[in-house]
Amino acid sequence: MRKANAKTLDGTPIELVANIELPSDVDDIHRSGAMGVGLFRSEFLFLGRDTLPTEDEQYEAYRRVAENLKGLPVTIRTMDPGTDKNPKWLNHGVADNPALGLTGIRLCLAEPQMFRAQLRALLRASRHGKIKVMFPMISSLPELKQALAQFEYAKQELRDNGQSYAEDIEIGAMIEIPSAALVVGSFLKHINFLSIGTNDLIQYTLAIDRNDDSVSHLYDPVHPAVLKLILHTIKTATKAGIPVSVCGEMAGDPSLTRLLLGMGLRRFSMHPANLLAVKRVVLDTHLDSIGTVVGRMLRTEDPDKIADLLQQLNAVADA
Ligand code: PEP
Ligand code: MG
Repeated sequence: MRKANAKTLDGTPIELVANIELPSDVDDIHRSGAMGVGLFRSEFLFLGRDTLPTEDEQYEAYRRVAENLKGLPVTIRTMDPGTDKNPKWLNHGVADNPALGLTGIRLCLAEPQMFRAQLRALLRASRHGKIKVMFPMISSLPELKQALAQFEYAKQELRDNGQSYAEDIEIGAMIEIPSAALVVGSFLKHINFLSIGTNDLIQYTLAIDRNDDSVSHLYDPVHPAVLKLILHTIKTATKAGIPVSVCGEMAGDPSLTRLLLGMGLRRFSMHPANLLAVKRVVLDTHLDSIGTVVGRMLRTEDPDKIADLLQQLNAVADA
């Protein structure tokens, strides 16, 4: 089972990859049977310390991950401190509303020296494995273009210094802000892949703080508005031939696997511990048999109906 390829009953291959936070988590990848790493949350290298990690320190960490994956691909997300994990050495003060403040790519663009040191480290490490780079919390095309300009600048710096990198390194963007999902079509010609961060996409669509227990009952991954944004992203990317994955918690929830398959998702990135359960559902699903129910789920805007239909979708053995 761990070694079995993930494909649906009709033979459609599904890529199951894993999320990691530290280079040492790579052992779990091999144990889980994942086909690679779909999200390496690189900010964990920056946390719990008083100073910024140097470019060389980062290079060693990324290189170790790439080499230990033994040919499997790894998507490394550039620093995304998030509102709950601000590094000690950051000197931007405490914002009143950090989730809407200087976070994710905004922080990186505000700290270009830090950002380019990370990009150079990633580029240098790309010679040692299959590294892809991904930008978090993109909210608009100009922001994506600024991040890409920094990426090109980092390449130029390496070339000027006689250092090499994988010329064919792929670059992607996370879709985790509703504005990005709505204008995703404008991103496509600039990137090689997309990954939907449903944790933040739900938070920002529903105005629910993902870390606030007092509103956690309202945090609803199958809210019709959330489903519309995910569907639009998957459809737009797929039509243009741009690979798209989900790397938020939804991807690792086996009760949502059939729904996501029915929405056209073919690449899931999740905590390694969830991989087997999701694979079981994939192996037990026929895409033709889920289309009608998923179609009804995507057409209704009534959450009660969505809940009933989801139950129906998951009730059938080998649907
Ligand atoms: C997400 O927002 O879904 C995501 C994968 O990123 P993080 O959970 O690290 O914010
Ligand atoms: Mg996120």
